[in-house]
Amino acid sequence: MQLNQPAQALFASAAAGHTLLQATHVPQLNDLLTQALAAGAPADRQLQINGQPHHAYVALAGTAGEYGAVLLMHDLTELERLGRARRDFVANISHELRTPITSIRLIADTMRHMPDLDSQRQHSLLGKIVSETEALGQLSGELLDLAQIESGRMLPKFELVAVHDLLAIVQQRLHAQASGKTLRIQIEASPALRVRTDPLLLERTLVNLLHNAVKFTPAGGSITLLARVEEPQLVLGVIDSGSGIAPLELLRIFERFYRGDPARSKGGTGLGLAIAKHAVELLGGKIWAESSGVPGAGAAFYIKLPFP
Ligand code: ADP
Repeated sequence: MQLNQPAQALFASAAAGHTLLQATHVPQLNDLLTQALAAGAPADRQLQINGQPHHAYVALAGTAGEYGAVLLMHDLTELERLGRARRDFVANISHELRTPITSIRLIADTMRHMPDLDSQRQHSLLGKIVSETEALGQLSGELLDLAQIESGRMLPKFELVAVHDLLAIVQQRLHAQASGKTLRIQIEASPALRVRTDPLLLERTLVNLLHNAVKFTPAGGSITLLARVEEPQLVLGVIDSGSGIAPLELLRIFERFYRGDPARSKGGTGLGLAIAKHAVELLGGKIWAESSGVPGAGAAFYIKLPFP
């Protein structure tokens, strides 16, 4: 019996001269081989090897009585993980859709059965429908972004970008929301700084981070948009004085649909940071978050991009 390198890694105790059973200690593989030889036809089955799911396939060569057999093993761990991830994803989306759809239906029902509602109450119910449809719109928009980025169809268009100008655009995009909460957003970046990147993708990512910073920072707080060079990289930061992130949460916030507890009452899909991570990777960089976890000590999100 001969084993190629991956098979040797899989069956570490296998040696030349061993029978299949001696080499693998997996009786089901031996049964599969016996079955194929007896039938004179290929055979296959799924089984666990070293606790991992595998597909085993026996192919035969030669003529009856003098068959040689090739055993092909295919590790299914990644395939199973992907299947699970897809099922979780669908379950998460259904869950996210259910809440706004249910409340819109309830409100519509209330309004239908109570045609004499006073106009103030009507106004407030219609306002709820608007915010629920906004949540649905945000979810579908973010799902589309995620799908596009993950499919590889979104190709970054690199050009030389003035960093300070880009940060100013990002600051401007959240201006209304920030002043509504009396938050101060300041920029710390040299006006001369330029980086080769995709301006739109980077702008969307920074808007996303700043949006979170505004959301999680109480009124009167401050947020810094920062850029500094650490050759051969450019570091961009969105640093807030908000609620901060607990150490255990820091490990999970970039997962799709992950939302910290206080966030549940603040809306949001839990997709923003997953999209940001993909986008930054498309730009050849990396993203991470830092926070002491002390409420009020704030959170800092950093992006490192190749520079210049
Ligand atoms: P969401 O739509 O909930 O904002 P994100 O993917 O953008 O989804 O963020 C995931 C979670 O990370 C949030 O629910 C929140 O718990 C945490 N988070 C993100 N940014 C901040 C921040 N600046 N301060 C505190 N927590 C944050």
